[in-house]
Amino acid sequence: MADTSDFDVIISGGGTVGRVLALALADADAGRIALVDRRPADAPEPGDQRSSALAAAIVRMLDTLDIWPSVVDAAQPISTMEVTDSALADPIRPVFLTFDTTLPDGDPFAYMVPNRELSEALNTAIAASDITVHQGTSIVSLTADGPTTVSLETGETLTARLVVAADGANSKVRAMAGIKTVGWDYDQFGLVTELRHENPHDGRAEEHFLPSGPFAILPLKGDRSSLVWTEKSAAARRLLALSRDELQAELLMRVPPHYGAIAIEGPVESYPLKLMLARDYIAPRVALAGDAAHVIHPLAGQGLNLGLRDVAALAEVVADAVRLGLDPGSLATLEGYQRWRRFDVVQMAVATDGLNRLFGTDLAPVRMIRDFGMGIVDRLPALKRIMIGEAAGTGGSMPRLLRGEVL
Ligand SMILES: Cc1cc2nc3c(=O)[nH]c(=O)nc-3n(C[C@H](O)[C@H](O)[C@H](O)COP(=O)(O)OP(=O)(O)OC[C@H]3O[C@@H](n4cnc5c(N)ncnc54)[C@H](O)[C@@H]3O)c2cc1C
Repeated sequence: MADTSDFDVIISGGGTVGRVLALALADADAGRIALVDRRPADAPEPGDQRSSALAAAIVRMLDTLDIWPSVVDAAQPISTMEVTDSALADPIRPVFLTFDTTLPDGDPFAYMVPNRELSEALNTAIAASDITVHQGTSIVSLTADGPTTVSLETGETLTARLVVAADGANSKVRAMAGIKTVGWDYDQFGLVTELRHENPHDGRAEEHFLPSGPFAILPLKGDRSSLVWTEKSAAARRLLALSRDELQAELLMRVPPHYGAIAIEGPVESYPLKLMLARDYIAPRVALAGDAAHVIHPLAGQGLNLGLRDVAALAEVVADAVRLGLDPGSLATLEGYQRWRRFDVVQMAVATDGLNRLFGTDLAPVRMIRDFGMGIVDRLPALKRIMIGEAAGTGGSMPRLLRGEVL
């Protein structure tokens, strides 16, 4: 027999965004919260070689939610950032831009955190909370004036005043709510793996804008770095078919010599890259968050940061509504969330898309102009401080969690 349970908020999708949202709402006592993910609880998480550069404001939120203490030992502060712009065959790669990435309060602007460590910390926190976890693919029936129903293949039926689509780029909830998207494929793949290297990285993050796409070496704890290597789709398929030794030889052409000897650690994963923006972030009784709302190029390491900024804003409007006895799923409540997030997301999508295009050409005149531009920026410390503040997510009107305040 079908089991009916009534919640204030159902979150469809237990990726990083869905889980942090559930914990933020539970921490704020924002009613009964259910988290639904299609992956069975006892199934291993899909291998995720990715690590995320978590911006300072996100670290503040994770600390406020008491998640950061379980992650901090695995988190590597980024202390400097170097940007180069070269063709693969160039004998040396002059550094055009360097950033001291320390914020005025002495904190680093971002930390590199392996996704598997963050995931483990989130699972532990959820197990210790009142959040109800369900396994299954959400099928949502939307009714603007009554509660929304979420049916699972298990026969369970859940109802809530608000359903949050945190079910990733191909969000079913978004489609069921009739929300359209805009965007395009980049015809690029991001190849991701971890490297062990002979020489220390000293907290340095490097981004090499090669003509095939950005090649980022991002510091992890120990003499290890996370590699995000962007290639055109055809070249990526060729690289993925190589043996480990052949791939390592290709890598040696790209990784600068100051790392010393290098070795690939663990599997090489590949992700097709695209830009996708939902036209709306809300519909009656539905809000989108994370990749369900926006997918951007990973060259600035900002996709998850954007999703977690959605979390901070959505948790605040929902918690405030519940406290005031208002309906958390009404359009009046949700419009505050959409207003808060739309500009930030579009701004980041335009910036990452523009950078990918600007650096995706090897034409000499274009290279000359952009290197000249980077040279000018490099000589303007005040502008660089503003850019680092933006990347840290510490500028503009911020939700309380991003300021380190409890909801
Ligand atoms: C190569 C690469 C490098 C990146 N590096 C960075 C970085 O350094 N910093 C950064 O901020 N971002 C980075 N990103 C972006 C970041 O990884 C994503 O933005 C982030 O993982 C999105 O999280 P999410 O929880 O929104 O979605 P997902 O991680 O896609 O989670 C969605 C969840 O929903 C579940 N689900 C799906 N459909 C259903 C359904 N119908 N019913 C129930 N459950 C469902 C899935 O099982 C999954 O658990 C990178 C991305 C790539 C590709």
